[in-house]
Amino acid sequence: MSKPNNILDSSIEFLKGVGPVRAELLKKELGLHTFRDLLLHFPFRYIDKTSFNKTTEPAADGDMVQYMGKITDIETIDGKGSQKRLSAEFSDGYGSVELVWFQRINWIEEYLEEGLEYIVYGRLKKYGGKKSIVHPEVEKVTQDSLQKLTTLFPVYSTTEKLNARNLHSRAISNLTRTLTEQLKPGDIPDFIPDYLMEKLRLRSFGEAVLTIHYPKNEAERIQAENRIKFNELFLLQLRLLYNRQLRKRKIRGIAFEQIGQKFNDFFHKKLQFELTEAQKRVVKELRRDMGSGIQMNRLLQGDVGSGKTIVALLCMLIAIDNGCQACLMAPTEILAYQHFQSITKMTDGLGIQVGFLTGSVKGKVRKELLFALEQGNIHILVGTHALLEKPVKYARLGLAITDEQHRFGVQQRARLWTKAMEHPPHILVMTATPIPRTLSMTLYGDLDVSVIDELPPGRKSIRTIHSFESKRPKLTEFLRTEIGRGRQVYVVYPLIEESETLDLKNLQDGYEQILHHFPRPDYQISVVHGRMKPQDKEFEMNRFKKGITHILVSTTVIEVGVDVPNASVMVIENAERFGLSQLHQLRGRVGRGAEQSYCILMSGNKLSNEARERIQTMVRTNNGFEIAEVDLKLRGPGDIEGIRQSGMLDLKMANLVTDTQILQTSRQACMAILEEDPELNLLKNKRLKAYLEKNKHLFLSWGRIS
Ligand code: ADP
Ligand code: MG
Repeated sequence: MSKPNNILDSSIEFLKGVGPVRAELLKKELGLHTFRDLLLHFPFRYIDKTSFNKTTEPAADGDMVQYMGKITDIETIDGKGSQKRLSAEFSDGYGSVELVWFQRINWIEEYLEEGLEYIVYGRLKKYGGKKSIVHPEVEKVTQDSLQKLTTLFPVYSTTEKLNARNLHSRAISNLTRTLTEQLKPGDIPDFIPDYLMEKLRLRSFGEAVLTIHYPKNEAERIQAENRIKFNELFLLQLRLLYNRQLRKRKIRGIAFEQIGQKFNDFFHKKLQFELTEAQKRVVKELRRDMGSGIQMNRLLQGDVGSGKTIVALLCMLIAIDNGCQACLMAPTEILAYQHFQSITKMTDGLGIQVGFLTGSVKGKVRKELLFALEQGNIHILVGTHALLEKPVKYARLGLAITDEQHRFGVQQRARLWTKAMEHPPHILVMTATPIPRTLSMTLYGDLDVSVIDELPPGRKSIRTIHSFESKRPKLTEFLRTEIGRGRQVYVVYPLIEESETLDLKNLQDGYEQILHHFPRPDYQISVVHGRMKPQDKEFEMNRFKKGITHILVSTTVIEVGVDVPNASVMVIENAERFGLSQLHQLRGRVGRGAEQSYCILMSGNKLSNEARERIQTMVRTNNGFEIAEVDLKLRGPGDIEGIRQSGMLDLKMANLVTDTQILQTSRQACMAILEEDPELNLLKNKRLKAYLEKNKHLFLSWGRIS
């Protein structure tokens, strides 16, 4: 075997105490192949064994204790099976405790000697006045064992299999001790350039990595941890930001140079309202992007009801005026159809062909549609993820828009890119789910972002109320009043059918109850859920839209995008079962007209802390950004869409929720470097360049997958 250049590249097999069998296990179970892998297998917590307890000191049953003292008496108690045990009297000069073993008795018997000094660690058991420890860790007092107690003691994650083969956390700590003792900080290369370390007063990465396994105290641990976090977040930013500017330089886009007839006709003749200042600003940003000759990659954030659709349409008209086609992809059939209807209506008389494609468009209709699309006879194609299927080919796709993008998988989004031949289409992704700042700096770090931060005029803010089953009669009364005023009502349930928990109000039950309280012919009710045929859904939605039905009972299929301005009351049943962003989306279905709107969150009396915080947050604020921050805090970033799938967040230590400060510092540092040296050609940045070369595989970019 050839000797590796860097000791860290050595196979883990060659670490003292490992060998071929354990090496195989460590590879399989923990993915640890080299010294480096083991070094970067950080402890997930620590035990503080830096001080000793006294046996006489007050301690509660179950406390972890560490004593130093002598074995004064050893006794084996014979018996059958579990009756057999070894009991040792242990004294530290102040008092004594009993140490008990039921297993490995022979081994312990051999190890313990009366009169010798031991360090004992374990969980204290108090029974009557007697103190004992079952299966304590025991170790003879030597210089070596005392030395180990001068640092915090690391605890490593392992697996069941490793535990069964005696490769438990303690055994792994023996390995990391062996490893860290033979390494010097200089053996661990870092990509951060010296000048930056000096400027930010960072200590060496190698030092931090060695320290993190065996810190002397909490302060040292935190310092080392922050240093490692800095590396992770800085290098993540570097990948994203370098990539973004590379794309901007390299990837050409179709330049939409002119604003033409269709845009102008629509803007001056058809647009029924004045754009808000925020909409105007965003349209300007988008026009500039699309006219620049560089491919646009933009995320449009705007709270529910802020008017993103019209912005999307204006962009599509610009594409058409420049001889291109545009497509708009929505996450549900209902939403896609609604977009199709409103776009058809808004562009009526402009000579624009709008196509509609979902999984349920079949046979001849589908065939003709696809043909027309390929011939360039369809200008705007609206649909669901059916737009991504192979046979869907465009004559000249210039703009691809995804609505409510968080609902799509990453893979699905990637495919939109393949739909244009020579130049990639301009990409616009729209979302009403505000992206917390930390995430827009990381996950979305390579997208440009536009924000519509203003609602169209005349909207009254929605009043949100938390209510309980016992108040249902009052709710019914309230709904009757609102319907009497000509308003319409949504009632949303979390499930379609009776689930395993019988107390759960499901849609069917609920529907019957509502029928009972709102009898025909005075009241008309629509039902919509995910298992209905698309045409039935459409039929019911249309009845509600036209105001024929007063109440729409549904599952969350109406969550996104649905726009019925006259509906002013949203009742969410079992609100505790919904996530925050879902609740916010649902609430966004009301408050679209000039009327005072209401959102009523019905829940059981017993709520988990988290559910209570979600509901309280909803009652407290209408601000989507605030809600998103709480959501991130409650769920952690791992759950936020796309992150896990993206695979680009290789963070062992850093936490996107809590490490905002380090994220900020590292981002600023990174931007400053790229501004001065965009291609990283300067000598002083050669380590950064080397890092990027080495980690091309981590280059999955959000721009690419949007
Ligand atoms: P979202 O951003 O949630 O997708 P929509 O695009 O569905 O919002 O717009 C919500 C409603 O507001 C629609 O009925 C739309 O016609 C209306 N709207 C959009 N912009 C304006 C505006 N500038 N002035 C008045 N109404 C507007
Ligand atoms: Mg929308």
